[in-house]
Amino acid sequence: MTGPPIRRVAVIGAGTMGRGIAQASAQAGYATTLFDADPAVPARARSDIEGTLEEGIARGKVTAGEKVSTLERLRLETELAPAVADADLVVEAIPERLDLKRDLFRRLETLAPGTAILGSNTSSLSIADIAEAVQRPGRVLGLHFFNPVHRMRLVEIVVAPGTESAAVERARAFAESLGKRPIVVRDAPGFATSRLGLTLGLEAMRMMEEGVAAAEDIDLAMELGYNHPMGPLKLTDLVGLDVRLAIAEHLARTIDPTRFEPPAVLRRLVDEGKLGRKTGEGFYVWREGKAVPKEDPPKEAAR
Ligand code: NAD
Repeated sequence: MTGPPIRRVAVIGAGTMGRGIAQASAQAGYATTLFDADPAVPARARSDIEGTLEEGIARGKVTAGEKVSTLERLRLETELAPAVADADLVVEAIPERLDLKRDLFRRLETLAPGTAILGSNTSSLSIADIAEAVQRPGRVLGLHFFNPVHRMRLVEIVVAPGTESAAVERARAFAESLGKRPIVVRDAPGFATSRLGLTLGLEAMRMMEEGVAAAEDIDLAMELGYNHPMGPLKLTDLVGLDVRLAIAEHLARTIDPTRFEPPAVLRRLVDEGKLGRKTGEGFYVWREGKAVPKEDPPKEAAR
């Protein structure tokens, strides 16, 4: 499948990642539509994108004209069909659940042009499993962005056995046009990034449960001792504890039930609705976008 050059991009799911991907796409000059199953979400996403662009202006990274043109290229949709009708590339960024993603891809196959690339921002699910939902799996691939999208340069392009090489090349050119650095990865559980990143995150949670150190000290150990820009627990707050739990459960099923068993503290915080920065509390309390250590970090081992 060669297909036309990518000019129009549709982003499905306007949560943490979808809004970032839509911003990056519109900022790079693509006519971009943004759709979410919850009709209230795209408008919130737009004001969030506006805020991020304004921060960019304050930091000298974005011009006032760029902000205006980025927002002009962004179209919010409350129906899926018009959002994808003329897309050359669709990027799915809905929750990390295979059933939801398969159902969406089934609909995308009938609603988007036959030449459009269908990309998933999944962090861990098998692209081949998602592609099973469609008749022509050659145009399905992983297009895995990182959080926050406007700052993180990596895009993992995940290639299933049935993905056509022309689709990979078009996706690679798209990622580069956004100023990102693509890497091409085989469709193995957790790809190159989530599998390694989660290993560190889960071990940090177990150490917290065992009372080895407080969350902020475990994070500082990696930040100052290993030069990681952000410790594994703060990063989990940023990603979303629900998102990381879903990935851990998937990797426990597909790679190793012991290594990737979600720690009790992760399950408990998710049950309590403490999902990290997006809800204001996770391993930290979040005030005005900044992580504040909790007074009394939970120690599961002592419960
Ligand atoms: P999120 O919960 O912030 O947003 C998901 C959005 O999808 C919600 O607004 C929800 O209303 C919407 N939605 C649900 N079902 C839908 C449907 N059928 N059609 C359209 N919209 C629908 O999730 P997120 O953190 O943005 O994660 C999205 C995807 O990106 C997941 O696959 C996740 O694993 C992956 N991912 C997340 C991160 C991260 O740091 N959060 C990083 C990389 C990849």
